Amino acid sequence: MDIQNLINSIAHDVEPYLAQGRPADYIPALAMESPQQFAMAVATLDGGLYATGLADKRFSIQSISKAFMLAHTLQRHGEALWQRVGKEPSGNPFNSLVQLEYEHGIPRNPFINAGALVVTDIAISEFGDSSSALRDFLREESGEPAIDFDYVIAASEAEHGHRNAALGHFMKSCNNITGGVEPLLAHYFRACSMRMNVRELARAGLFLANHGVSPVSGQQRLSRSQAKQVNAIMLTCGTYDAAGEFAYRVGLPCKSGVGGGILAVLPGKMSIAVWSPGLDARGNSLAGLEALDRFTTRSGESVF
Ligand code: GLN
Repeated sequence: MDIQNLINSIAHDVEPYLAQGRPADYIPALAMESPQQFAMAVATLDGGLYATGLADKRFSIQSISKAFMLAHTLQRHGEALWQRVGKEPSGNPFNSLVQLEYEHGIPRNPFINAGALVVTDIAISEFGDSSSALRDFLREESGEPAIDFDYVIAASEAEHGHRNAALGHFMKSCNNITGGVEPLLAHYFRACSMRMNVRELARAGLFLANHGVSPVSGQQRLSRSQAKQVNAIMLTCGTYDAAGEFAYRVGLPCKSGVGGGILAVLPGKMSIAVWSPGLDARGNSLAGLEALDRFTTRSGESVF
């Protein structure tokens, strides 16, 4: 397969879709991104790195951070993590409150906001400064020591983050948040604000494609079975209430973020990152989904 040719042609094919998406506007600092931007990168386990479009431009990874936060925390905390967060798709929007009350403050999965807040609470108890621990993790796994938080985006989200605050306080009332809600939100917003480009993101995802062992840092980030578990949850929950459509069209574990990025993993082979800030109604990158669909359909590569 000529990966470079394939992604160049995909970048051309998705151009008409760029105008159809809308950047997230509930975080004002994200609303300023033009939707007319696209980038895609593929990192392979044999050391290849292919990129097209605006591959040097860093963007806010937002909820893609949840996949890395889960991996990092699962490795440290182990199976006990699953006593506080479930593994089932929610079928609801990523920021939904509705299921929490009748499930006694136990979020359905670690990738909806409520679940990511619980994982962050566990990460704070394990690492202390959980957002800096995540930043170190991503610096090592991308091989790029310069990547950092975007403090303007984190502050913008904090100012408008009433829904996440409500989720945090509700779960605290159910005794599923152990620390303070305010520091929890600060760590969560900072982790989401992290800026990376598609090349860095694709490289950082390689440990998930390599059964938990990173070819970039050489570290065992997850056991083989934990890597399988994280990929499975990405497939079933990583794109929220569009997880069925992503499985159907893309056929890979994916994790999206409202900054317009999507990380996809083909276990045993490669990690793919796409970015285009225009989102569809469910908060996933519209052109990003089109690009991943074309990548797996044309290459014939997927987990199915
Ligand atoms: N920081 C965002 C939020 O909490 C992340 C959401 C996302 O990327 N889906 O709303």
